[in-house]
Amino acid sequence: MKVFKFGGASVNSVDRIKNLAAILAQYPNDPLVVIVSAMGKTTNGLEKVVEAFCAGKQEEALGLFDVIKKQHTTTAKYLLVTRFNACLQQLHDFFTEVEWLLHDKPVRDFDYYYDQVVCTGELLSTCIISHFLSESGIANDWTDVRDIIRTDNHFRDAGVMWEETKERVQDVFANRQHPILLTQGFIGCTDDNESTTLGREGSDYTAALFANMLDAESLTIWKDVEGVMSADPKQFPEASLISELNFTEVIEMAFYGAQVIHPKTIKPLQNKAIPLYVKCFLDPALPGTIIHGKHLRNLPPILVIKENQVLVHLNSLDFSFVGDEPMSRLYAIFGEARIKPNLIQTGAISVQVCIDDKGDKTTALAASAAHLFDIQVEKNLELLTIRHYTEDLLHKMTAGKEPVLIQKSRETVQVLYRRGI
Ligand code: ASP
Ligand code: MG
Repeated sequence: MKVFKFGGASVNSVDRIKNLAAILAQYPNDPLVVIVSAMGKTTNGLEKVVEAFCAGKQEEALGLFDVIKKQHTTTAKYLLVTRFNACLQQLHDFFTEVEWLLHDKPVRDFDYYYDQVVCTGELLSTCIISHFLSESGIANDWTDVRDIIRTDNHFRDAGVMWEETKERVQDVFANRQHPILLTQGFIGCTDDNESTTLGREGSDYTAALFANMLDAESLTIWKDVEGVMSADPKQFPEASLISELNFTEVIEMAFYGAQVIHPKTIKPLQNKAIPLYVKCFLDPALPGTIIHGKHLRNLPPILVIKENQVLVHLNSLDFSFVGDEPMSRLYAIFGEARIKPNLIQTGAISVQVCIDDKGDKTTALAASAAHLFDIQVEKNLELLTIRHYTEDLLHKMTAGKEPVLIQKSRETVQVLYRRGI
């Protein structure tokens, strides 16, 4: 069996949903698990709903949610004939769930509400797509993935409970009625029946979990680009397609901030040597990129820019060595705040840590390390990473920039610089 994942851009219009159906029609009898994201920018829209709700602006939240309701109802109307009413009924059930919540006053924390509301995006998209596929003669089983993926209650970044989930995945797949099992990426559920999400862009990860647990022959991620590129073409017009990559390289790229594939996606695939194809849904005949576990030589330079970075300067309070005890306490603080350092530079009595600028989280982190270090935060930075760099390329890419920190290893160079310079 194979797993396919379609992201938000591949289902953001009536035509694109028709295109998805045309792709699936080319695999008539293949057992498939199809994982789909929320349509287009729905997740961002739902985030705005939660923000308004948690800020006490109930009317605004309901109004914003209304826009999302209309978008989905209209899409369903354009796509469906015989199954329109059945689909609408199901959509309404999801709408009502959110509206009930929005009519209450917020009493729990933001992350909890975030997950209860934001999970709706994938439920709505898959519901419409499932009905459309059925109407187009592509029989499929729609499943609420919250009945399958069990997670802890780290809302917005939930951890999957592997064994419970695996049992359910295998069970649901074995008992499906049709070759295609269609379900949502990105969302899960706790033992207490509360919805959770796995982190933004988490649908790739869901797809990899299914691939691993079902011993899939491959996972294909359908995107709006030719395949994995050597840089983001929006930032670097000279970016080119890389037709073959390995897991190590992709996990490094994701770690450095490439928006290609969610970083958590690779481990479940690597562990079972399941190849990952990245293909273009706009032109399925293109070869795309294959990613596997084998060793590769002579990879081209790969460029990644991570925006919105801050550099936290931590200086020893009493001139004691940063080395031992304070360092391990510092790591513990990062761990508790669930902040992953992107770059660390240590000196005798100082440490510099580059992290994503997460506003409040950054301030909270600074506060919790204040008893150990004197702290200064430098904002508005960008982190450029070049894998397989040459000195010439490094020179070219940093010309005219004002670096704040540079780190080099044999394979990788990273340059942190002020934005807009
Ligand atoms: N819809 C979610 C997001 O936009 C998950 C995903 O697309 O993978 O982050
Ligand atoms: Mg997406």
